[in-house]
Formats: sequence, C-alpha cells, structure tokens
Amino acid sequence: MKNAIVTGGGSGIGLAVAERLRSEGYHVGTIDLAPAPDDPLAQTADVTDRAQVDAAFAAIRESLGPITILVNAAGIDGFQKFTRMTFEEWQKVIDVNLNGVFHTIQAVLPDMIDAEWGRIVNISSSSAHSGQPYMAHYVAAKSAVNGLTKSLALELGPSGITVNAVPPGFVDTPMLRSAEGRKLLGGTVEDHILRTPVRRVGRPEDIAAACAFLISEDAGYITGQILGVNGGRNT
Ligand code: NAD
Repeated sequence: MKNAIVTGGGSGIGLAVAERLRSEGYHVGTIDLAPAPDDPLAQTADVTDRAQVDAAFAAIRESLGPITILVNAAGIDGFQKFTRMTFEEWQKVIDVNLNGVFHTIQAVLPDMIDAEWGRIVNISSSSAHSGQPYMAHYVAAKSAVNGLTKSLALELGPSGITVNAVPPGFVDTPMLRSAEGRKLLGGTVEDHILRTPVRRVGRPEDIAAACAFLISEDAGYITGQILGVNGGRNT
C-alpha cells in the first residue's frame, strides 16, 4: 500500500514532500487551499472544515484506493504581541495548525486501521522547543501538535501505525520569505544563517527527506519522535 495524502501540498514544504514521495514511487494526493496547478490529484479544501476534509479524502480515495500515509504540512504563521492578540487571531492559528491536524488524522485512520499499517508525519516547528515572542498562538499550536503526536503514537502503535513529528527550523519557503518581507523575523534570513550551526537556511527538500525516511519501512520501529530538522538551531 503506497498511497499518501500531503496537506499543504500546494507550496513550500508540503509541495517538496509530495514531489519526494512521488519520486519514490508513492501515489500522492494533496489537499490545499491553493493547490499546485499541475497536480492531477490535488483537492482544494480547507483543513479546518471537516466536511471539506472528508470530501477531499473521499475524492482522492476514489482515484487511489485506501490511504495509509499522511503528512500534515498545511499551516499558517502569525505574529502579534500577546497583549494585542484578539481571540479571533488566536483561534485562527490554532484552528489551522492544530485542529486541521485533528481533522485529517481522523479522516485517514479508518484506512490505516483496516490495513493494520500506517504512517503519519506532522510538521510542527522548532519554535515549540524554546518559544518565540509574538508567536504565542503559533507556538501553542505547534507544541500541541508535538503532544498529539506522542499520544497518538502510544494509542495507534498496536494497530501498526507510527506517528512522528518533524519540527523544521528556518526553511526557505513563501511563508518564511513573506515574514522576512514584513520584517517579522527579528532580522533577515541571512542574519539567521549566521546563528545556524550548518550556516545555511533549510530547504524544503531537507524536510521532505526526513518525512520520506519516517514513512519508509526502515522507520517502522520509530514512533512518537520529534525529529528536528533545523541545521543545529532550535528556534
Ligand atoms: P507555505 O505557506 O509555503 O505552505 C503552506 C501551505 O499550506 C500553503 O500552500 C497554504 O495554502 C496551505 N494552507 C494554509 N492554510 C490552509 C488551510 N486552512 N487548509 C488547507 N491548506 C492550507 O509554508 P511552509 O513554510 O511550506 O509551511 C509548511 C509547514 O511547515 C507549516 O505547518 C509551517 O507552520 C511549518 N513550518 C515552516 C517553517 C519555515 O521556516 N518555512 C518553519 C517551521 C515550521
């Protein structure tokens, strides 16, 4: 069974994960608000909306059959001083980054349980290690994704399903460059490279490689792990 769904597959990390998995022979469907135009198995859906998620999974299943691999990469950032943060801002970031993961995992689990095999990889964030000023909602959501990952690993291990998280450091994607352009990074990407032990910014392909490993048969004894891919820098 080599059918995968990647959320956020229209851009950045999710796009690179989808391409990497295809290059390894997996059949890959993607879900995004703005899917890649050349992706024949792309579904336009909002991960915060359960009905849309269920419909997108059903459409991909109809083309591919049961889905036993899920990579959750859809996400949004958010920058706001906590004293100014509205509940709506808080809720939106939690909704996409955490509740979206809840919906997609619930949507895919019946296939994995039937197959007695599954792989789930959640893209969290290195900011969950140390916190990040003005990103309390984002860090809270990504920390919760790490916690969800660990709990589900224990709950689903007996069903043959592994659940791991990959928290990236700075990765060169439209999300990162947009934050840099709005001067929200506390410096430029180049400044951050100087504080990164391997002295470069992450590439989406770096994250895709870690996901491909965690999905592989070789990683069958790895579950509940938070595998940082961050060039040696945790924030
Ligand atoms: P990106 O903006 O390039 O891609 C994110 C994708 O998610 C977009 O295509 C967007 O349309 C999609 N998306 C957003 N909200 C959605 C929704 N409600 N429903 C469906 N799709 C939705 O960003 P990226 O940098 O590739 O980020 C991918 C993941 O990696 C995110 O979860 C992000 O938080 C995480 N991350 C990124 C970095 C980084 O430096 N780029 C660092 C740490 C964590």
